[in-house]
Amino acid sequence: LKGKTALVTGASRGIGRAIALEFAGEGVDVAVNCSSSVAEAEKVAQKIKKLGRKSIVIQADVSNKDSVKKMIEKVVKEFGRIDILVNNAGIATVSPSEKLEEKVWRRGIDVMLTGVFFCSQAAGKIMIEQKSGKIINIASINGIVAFPERACYSSAKAGVIALTKVLSSEWAKYNINVNAVAPGYVETDLVRNLVTQGTLDLDELAGRTPNGKLAKTGDISNTVVF
Ligand code: NAD
Repeated sequence: LKGKTALVTGASRGIGRAIALEFAGEGVDVAVNCSSSVAEAEKVAQKIKKLGRKSIVIQADVSNKDSVKKMIEKVVKEFGRIDILVNNAGIATVSPSEKLEEKVWRRGIDVMLTGVFFCSQAAGKIMIEQKSGKIINIASINGIVAFPERACYSSAKAGVIALTKVLSSEWAKYNINVNAVAPGYVETDLVRNLVTQGTLDLDELAGRTPNGKLAKTGDISNTVVF
């Protein structure tokens, strides 16, 4: 991986931050995308630079096509190419289906499905020219199995899994690999906020797994880098 370049969306914290740092540790220059937490993203970029790699912070909402286009252009301008795209940005949209508000549904699908498509399309155009690239989408176990109150989240993540399969079959001829990683529950702010709201119970979740533990961000970043 030494000398490769990557863009990780939603990399100011949580799983995205761990992925960005893990890639940097493997010799990759990393563009750190964030939607609003620029100060946090800058801290991640500083850590990457301390590891001896280049890093830039790009503030962009992945659901905005124009912003995504500019973000990919900036990566190519600063790094010369884009070898790896990790579509990690995500939000929680837990609600009983009968009460799920239209704006929550639309925002969830916009960020977690349409955003993955916009970023993949913009980066894919460059990767097709390069005749190489890797796209890794962070899906979720919720895209495969049913959990109550996850109508929007599960639909978006199931869509990401389907999109991953379509893109991988379509772009394999350009030497582009498209894969998805579908984590179970991982200890991050996203999960901690749901615990605070009383939506999730950490002990109950840990009890569902054979080893009685939630995943750590490093378990997911390892897999993505692999
Ligand atoms: P998190 O809330 O800690 O981080 C999500 C990141 O995405 C944040 O930095 C946030 O600012 C960013 N983001 C949100 N909307 C964005 C937008 N429109 N444009 C750009 N960035 C945006 O969450 P996390 O737990 O680290 O989740 C990361 C990914 O992993 C998400 O896609 C999530 O659905 C998925 N996931 C998480 C878990 C879990 O248990 N934590 C399990 C399975 C999948």
